[in-house]
Amino acid sequence: MNETKTVSVIGGGPAGLMAAEVLSAQGLQVHVYDAMPSVGRKFLLAGRGGLNLTHSEPADIFASRFGDRRAQVEPWLAQLGPQALRDWAQDLGIETFVGTSGRVFPKDMKAAPLLRAWLHRLRSNDVQFHMRHRWLGWAESASAAHSLRFATPSGEQAQAADAVVLALGGGSWSRLGSDGAWVPWLQADGIDVAPLAPANCGFDMAWSEHFSSRFAGQPFKSVAIAFTDSRGRRFARKGEFVATATGIEGSLIYAASSLLRDEIAAEGSATLTLDLLPDRTPEQVLAAVMHPRGARSLSSHLKSRLGIDGIKAGVLHETLSRDAMHDPVQLAAAIKAAPLRLIAPRPIDEAISSAGGVRFAALDERLMASARPGLFCAGEMLDWEAPTGGYLLTAAMASGAVAARGVLSHLDQAAGQH
Ligand SMILES: Cc1cc2nc3c(=O)[nH]c(=O)nc-3n(C[C@H](O)[C@H](O)[C@H](O)COP(=O)(O)OP(=O)(O)OC[C@H]3O[C@@H](n4cnc5c(N)ncnc54)[C@H](O)[C@@H]3O)c2cc1C
Repeated sequence: MNETKTVSVIGGGPAGLMAAEVLSAQGLQVHVYDAMPSVGRKFLLAGRGGLNLTHSEPADIFASRFGDRRAQVEPWLAQLGPQALRDWAQDLGIETFVGTSGRVFPKDMKAAPLLRAWLHRLRSNDVQFHMRHRWLGWAESASAAHSLRFATPSGEQAQAADAVVLALGGGSWSRLGSDGAWVPWLQADGIDVAPLAPANCGFDMAWSEHFSSRFAGQPFKSVAIAFTDSRGRRFARKGEFVATATGIEGSLIYAASSLLRDEIAAEGSATLTLDLLPDRTPEQVLAAVMHPRGARSLSSHLKSRLGIDGIKAGVLHETLSRDAMHDPVQLAAAIKAAPLRLIAPRPIDEAISSAGGVRFAALDERLMASARPGLFCAGEMLDWEAPTGGYLLTAAMASGAVAARGVLSHLDQAAGQH
């Protein structure tokens, strides 16, 4: 019944490609459109630092990573969860392994071989790819369920489809294609969209000129940060991060970034505390600071007794006055909890991912827009977020599969009504 139906998938990232796979496997004619000259650019970028496809932790913990959106995302994972994703990669000839942190990677860490095998499978399923087709919204047409406007190298074109999956990505790294330009178009169509915001991002703060010129680009290693927001939600973890010329970034900061971002939005700033020696108690630190240092300078004392030098010593000078540096109690307290006041998240374009997007209230559980039956949305353009660790790709791809199954059920229903 569905064989003659045409489905347009707009956006050739992991969410759109997974939708195309599920649809084409059911014999539908699938067209994938993308604004860029090739698909999967962010997926390929993700592979540059080692493609973290998913995570091996227990399902309950995995689902908890989606925070407030757990209820919406968990049903997707039941359709395409971490193990199913590993099996899928295996089926494409890509073996995966579990790293020491529990994260799952392809054996060679790369995204390109996986993408190549995936595109090969899609082409054998007769998926048609249309690159440099930038979707602009809808054209009015009485003849097709959906008439889509595209900017193409040969001018504007209209294409008809029986159903549409939008998988346009979020708003970060716009040079790879996901520019968030679709937000006002969907809003104009009566589809509720939460403003896009940076997620897994760095932050700005006011380093002194002296600190940023000496330490920008250097890591804080084996430290811990703690933060409690004004609603009492707490984040505390060991790890590492990097000082930038204007602030801080890196894995430990990304992990806390949704709380920090929301606090800055609500309160104008967010102050986290930095523990330079998480493996020592405050008492041990105080005892070491107070240990007689004879003729040695304070900096060589800190270095020899506590291993504090370089950027760690630098941040103490940032947070303490000259007098306070020489007060053992204040110095020991700052070593265990130096306050860093963050004033703004870095721009969304620099973020690993984005929060916000099409609100779930605008969609049914198949991810079809109530305001436009036959239009489905998937991937990072939906209003969920997650930390790094393979959760982003897993949920993006799982939602692509859910939207595709939604298309199948919608087309079946529509056919049954005729
Ligand atoms: C540096 C970096 C590293 C990352 N590493 C990881 C990782 O290791 N593990 C992990 O889980 N996640 C990682 N991510 C996040 C992950 O890559 C994304 O969450 C994921 O790609 C989102 O998939 P998507 O299909 O929803 O959107 P995208 O991959 O952004 O794809 C959207 C597509 O839509 C197209 N498009 C947009 N607008 C239009 C339009 N108007 N017309 C036509 N086409 C359009 C774009 O060109 C693009 O191809 C990383 C992200 C970054 C930036």
